[in-house]
Amino acid sequence: IILLLNPFAILPGFEAMEGQKEVIDRLQRSFRSRVTLPEQFRLAQLDALLSLIKENETQILEALHQDLYKPKFEAVLSEIDMVMNEICFAINNLRTWMQPEYVGKNLATKLDDCFVRREPLGVVLIIGAWNYPLQLILLPLVGAIAAGNCAILKPSEISQATEKLLAELIPKYLSKECYAVVCGGAEETKTLLENRFDHIFYTGSQNVARSILQAAAVHLTPVTLELGGKCPCLIYGKVDIKAAARRLAWAKFFNAGQSCVAPDYVLCTPQIQAALIPALRDALEGFYTAQPKQCPDMGRIVSDRHWDRLNNMLERSAGTVEIGGESTKQEKYMAPTVLVNVKENDVLMQEEIFGPILPILSVETLEEGIDFMNCREKPLALYIFSDEPQVVTKVLEQTSSGGFCSNDGIVHMTLPGLPFGGVGASGMGSYHGRWGFETFSHRRGCMLRGWGLERINVLRYPPYQETNLSW
Ligand code: NAD
Repeated sequence: IILLLNPFAILPGFEAMEGQKEVIDRLQRSFRSRVTLPEQFRLAQLDALLSLIKENETQILEALHQDLYKPKFEAVLSEIDMVMNEICFAINNLRTWMQPEYVGKNLATKLDDCFVRREPLGVVLIIGAWNYPLQLILLPLVGAIAAGNCAILKPSEISQATEKLLAELIPKYLSKECYAVVCGGAEETKTLLENRFDHIFYTGSQNVARSILQAAAVHLTPVTLELGGKCPCLIYGKVDIKAAARRLAWAKFFNAGQSCVAPDYVLCTPQIQAALIPALRDALEGFYTAQPKQCPDMGRIVSDRHWDRLNNMLERSAGTVEIGGESTKQEKYMAPTVLVNVKENDVLMQEEIFGPILPILSVETLEEGIDFMNCREKPLALYIFSDEPQVVTKVLEQTSSGGFCSNDGIVHMTLPGLPFGGVGASGMGSYHGRWGFETFSHRRGCMLRGWGLERINVLRYPPYQETNLSW
């Protein structure tokens, strides 16, 4: 009853009586008490987060399986290991990140201490999407904790089992005074967003991102938007087609195609397409057998609504299905599907596919492929498959995207040294590794000056003398 009356009540296991306002007030009080500032506190919370994952791995895997039928290997790789690596990376580097950064000085500041100090922002809100429901909440949280913030976590309601588990585990392991999970869907998030936060970190669709920005504008809250889009994969020139097919198929059909950095469509010449189709067929059969529906390594679509959306796209596409095409609603199953003869104006090219459907479009030249990508919104990731270094360099230099990877897909996002984030319509801001720490920090420019050299200062006081301008 409490939960029905108050959608912002924290899910069972943690202070179910508390409403959103109380939670935010409590976190703001904690932040003002400066408890999150010491390095030791941040390290202890990061350690606790590591224990949360290690001690509950089985439950986490079960929740991910329930939500997305995530194969164990994929769940371990993309959610558990990725988060644990990031936590360890933050723990190992925190002291360095927290050091003041001394900057170059000029003659007028020679005797001053001039440095950049990273300071936490305050109480931040992290809103996650359903496709990597653990990673998309906990990875930003690592940056928020490392930078010394308090945080409210709002997991996606669509991946319900993971949402519930996070709401249960976070208060068991992390400081209840500094971190809290709020559950709910669109309506609840909208109400939550009426409150003032010191930063909003949002992962999800471009449409919802617009309302996040509007809500943030009311309080002038800085925002990070981790969005999606259509990530192209251009295959051009000399290339090992069998390896290309395997890497492409893995990146595309991982998590049943529900990855923000999955190759959304392929651009290649008709000659490459002729070799790519049989190679993709072999690769897919090798990965998922001739009966992918029975294969435990093939994920499922997250919800009936998304299954309907994908099925509808497939039915309306004028492309030719070369591989797959089967789907059953009851199991939210869709076979790894590849289409050819897909044109620019096809339904599959109007929005991000976000499912196991891969259209292939024909281009005749490298320049045509580059133009095709440049005429569209800047994607979150852009892939070029080619054995010719000059081709890779040309695509890198003549395009723009959130991230870039040659001759593979998705893997660039696993390296904490690389910033992860979009550009243009695919998002703003970045995180992972030090970049997450930076996102949740204010870079305060500091100058510590003493009282010396007052006689030189006289040169800048009125009454002004033209002759002193050379100072
Ligand atoms: P979603 O439906 O889970 O929504 C994301 C979050 O927004 C959820 O927590 C949800 O409760 C909240 N929400 C939904 N409607 C809202 C509203 N009207 N107002 C306020 N909050 C609202 O996820 P989705 O949007 O379907 O996510 C899929 C999209 O996310 C894809 O475009 C994908 O590419 C993108 N994505 C991006 C990244 C990245 O790191 N850049 C990662 C994963 C997914």
